Amino acid sequence: MQILLVEDDAALVEALKKALVAEGFAVNCLSKGKQAIASIKTELPDMVILDLGLPDMDGLEVMRLIRAVSAELPVLILTARSSLGDKITGLDLGADDYLAKPFDVNELLARIRVIERRASSLKHASLVIGDVMLDSISHQVFVAGEAVSMSRREFMLLKGLMENVGRVLTKESLESKLYSWGEEVVSNTIEVHIHHLRKKLPAGFIQTLRGVGYIVKLP
Ligand code: CA
Repeated sequence: MQILLVEDDAALVEALKKALVAEGFAVNCLSKGKQAIASIKTELPDMVILDLGLPDMDGLEVMRLIRAVSAELPVLILTARSSLGDKITGLDLGADDYLAKPFDVNELLARIRVIERRASSLKHASLVIGDVMLDSISHQVFVAGEAVSMSRREFMLLKGLMENVGRVLTKESLESKLYSWGEEVVSNTIEVHIHHLRKKLPAGFIQTLRGVGYIVKLP
């Protein structure tokens, strides 16, 4: 899952990024509201963590602009302001949750998991293609009824392919689901993940279109 973190406090960004990456999330960080809106318009992340006290614009205005781009994109607001007014305005503008600073990083992770589950249950609680069943809520994959263990990245890769059944996904678009901007990604990393995934899935489930990308087709 790709998280866009919009926060101008460099020390907090560093700490949050470390904690989120350790949980297996891809995290991209921006410190300004305008950059965040431009980035979201270019490529929708899976979730936004938005600080309300940004240097260039009011975070509540950023929240409003995010909703103009996407009604469903999950947004968790972070703020030092503890006033009830801001909290209500933020939620009225469509934020999914709200966390007042200072907060415990474990609480942030728990809130993210709740938002992630809620978003999954709205979209695709479980995806079934042929003998493969992927459950976004319990993060489990079953092949012909048997549970198969996977790393978080393998799971995200398979989920991306199954959500886009019948569509070719390029290596670059798969990489963006798994890795943060600027993260060192070995050139064959997607091939390696696909190789491991294939060993756990029915033969031919993930097909390669040489030089283009990968596809999962309906049987
Ligand atoms: Ca701030």
